[in-house]
Amino acid sequence: MRGAVLYAPGDIRVDDREEPTIVEPTDAVIRMAATCVCGSDLWPYRGIEEVDGPSPMGHEYVGVVEEVGSEVRNVKPGQFVVGSFFASDNTCEICRAGYQTSCVQRQPGAATGAQAQYCRIPLADGTLVATPDVPPADLVPSLLAASDVLGTGWFGAVAAEVCPGKTVAVVGDGAVGLLGVLAAKQLGAERIIAMSRHESRQKLALEFGATDIVTERGDDGVAKIKDLTDGLGAHSVIEAVGTQESMMQAIRSTRPGGHVGYVGVSHDVELPGQELFFSHVHLHGGPAPVRRFLPDLIDLIWNRTIDPGKVFDLTLPLDQAAEGYKAMDERRAIKTLLQP
Ligand SMILES: [Zn+2]
Repeated sequence: MRGAVLYAPGDIRVDDREEPTIVEPTDAVIRMAATCVCGSDLWPYRGIEEVDGPSPMGHEYVGVVEEVGSEVRNVKPGQFVVGSFFASDNTCEICRAGYQTSCVQRQPGAATGAQAQYCRIPLADGTLVATPDVPPADLVPSLLAASDVLGTGWFGAVAAEVCPGKTVAVVGDGAVGLLGVLAAKQLGAERIIAMSRHESRQKLALEFGATDIVTERGDDGVAKIKDLTDGLGAHSVIEAVGTQESMMQAIRSTRPGGHVGYVGVSHDVELPGQELFFSHVHLHGGPAPVRRFLPDLIDLIWNRTIDPGKVFDLTLPLDQAAEGYKAMDERRAIKTLLQP
């Protein structure tokens, strides 16, 4: 089969790789219907995260179950399934509390790399959710978005305690930030301020439900949010970048008593204790427990209530994965869908 492998920063190739097989009796092997490049794939691609030898890439997937291990009960061959980037049993105490990405059995969801024609998924019963039927082709991008970026944006909004009547600010205009806007809209936010300097992303944010756009960032961005909220700051802020600047921008844009939901993968962020102490801001976030939200998100997509697949503004054959990475790295594309 064909699969994307990162050899060194900037060097992504699609190679002939061995087709995955069932290793554990709780595994499934799926035939990928679509996969994509994640903003977090860009960290090693840019050399910010170390590349430890040739690494199969990708952790976002939808596809058809090809084969299951002898202990798998909940999914069967032929079903179309969505899973997330961590595999979870969905039965332990942590999973039952809704934190499947901290499952006591947590392991990578796409064990053999999702940017490939086939993938082995561990703990299939707890990890995979079957759709009501094999979806029409136009729903596949949205279901793929549910696998990570939609679920992550959704968790950002839930962690920021978004609810009707609140003002929400979103730091970050990548796919996760944009889908945080969509989530905030669905959760009933009254006002949604998207922070973005890119016209195409601003447009999508408005389509997803943003009511205001702020182009400033850093301290100027914070000042603008304060201007828009009677000097108080937003009730809820979704942080979807993961840098020191974006995290501080999020905390400082939140009013006392308000909530930050941080879902950008944290890189060298250090929080000043005293400022945090006096801010009265709640912080909650981490790797999104996408599995918690998957059944509801699949419903919303299936009923065509939401169309998160719009974040894919570039579609390429899997063999052109290198161009897909490059386009995202150069911010020519918001998110690249790869067709296996
Ligand atoms: Zn668990």
